[in-house]
Amino acid sequence: MNSIVCIKQVPNTNEVKINKETGTLIREGVESIINPDDKNALEAALVLKEQTGGTVTILSMGPPQAKAALKEGLAMGADEAWLLSDRAFGGSDTWATATILAAAIEKIGNYDIVFCGRQAIDGDTAQVGPEIAEFLGIPQVTYAKEIKPEENALRVTRFTENADLVYHVQTPCLITAIKELNDPRFPTVADIFRAYDEETDNIHVLTFADLSIDPTQIGLKGSPTNVYRSFVPVKDKQSEIIEGMNEKEKAKALMDKLAALKLF
Ligand SMILES: Cc1cc2nc3c(=O)[nH]c(=O)nc-3n(C[C@H](O)[C@H](O)[C@H](O)COP(=O)(O)OP(=O)(O)OC[C@H]3O[C@@H](n4cnc5c(N)ncnc54)[C@H](O)[C@@H]3O)c2cc1C
Repeated sequence: MNSIVCIKQVPNTNEVKINKETGTLIREGVESIINPDDKNALEAALVLKEQTGGTVTILSMGPPQAKAALKEGLAMGADEAWLLSDRAFGGSDTWATATILAAAIEKIGNYDIVFCGRQAIDGDTAQVGPEIAEFLGIPQVTYAKEIKPEENALRVTRFTENADLVYHVQTPCLITAIKELNDPRFPTVADIFRAYDEETDNIHVLTFADLSIDPTQIGLKGSPTNVYRSFVPVKDKQSEIIEGMNEKEKAKALMDKLAALKLF
């Protein structure tokens, strides 16, 4: 089965710092990594290739630095890498991002499965995967924790809070991966040398001119989401030790406080 895996390069931090004046992320001094769920997506695609044959193609949209994420994906075992990079793509929200990724997937073509991570650790919306599936007009299963290949189809176990749901989905389809799906492999030394060989630029770059996209649907102007304000919530913890002679007295003092706060 042929897979295309969408890989996003993200800052390696859960504690996002925001520039108070511009409202944008402060990226300086923060290491960039492959979004963790995307590594699970790539691992699933590599396992499917081992089981059924086919190819694994990785795709990212971002500035030229995003090549580093694609190199790492190639070192893990991907066959081919594509980078979508153009100023016209800047400022895209999830709708515009998915529009661009879907157009690129159509251009690359010849796929059975599109893989995405469930969500990116910086944007955290979990919207891009489902939006790509809608734009491509293919079925989707999100939150995949197990995937088994079948004849022109997949058996996918989807995680939910209350129960696991088992789907039989026909290809071509889109799957979003969660960390429970697998343990991403470490690249071998030989694969690292192959991927990082400076003699060969093994990443295809696509620009706006290469894709059939309506320019009004991408970039800041084509983004229907307007960010009103970005801020890091202030963690305001107040604690109080309940004093008393014994447990009974302490429990009563606690109940009195809860009652005063109308919490009991
Ligand atoms: C109004 C607005 C303006 C914005 N302007 C900018 C900007 O100027 N610059 C900027 O960097 N960001 C900008 N963003 C953020 C940008 O929209 C998100 O980074 C992007 O849409 C992905 O959303 P997410 O991080 O929530 O991904 P999710 O939906 O949580 O990601 C799910 C999965 O989709 C795939 N995916 C997501 N993004 C990519 C990608 N770029 N390449 C490959 N695969 C991907 C991955 O597999 C990922 O695991 C803006 C957002 C908004 C709302």
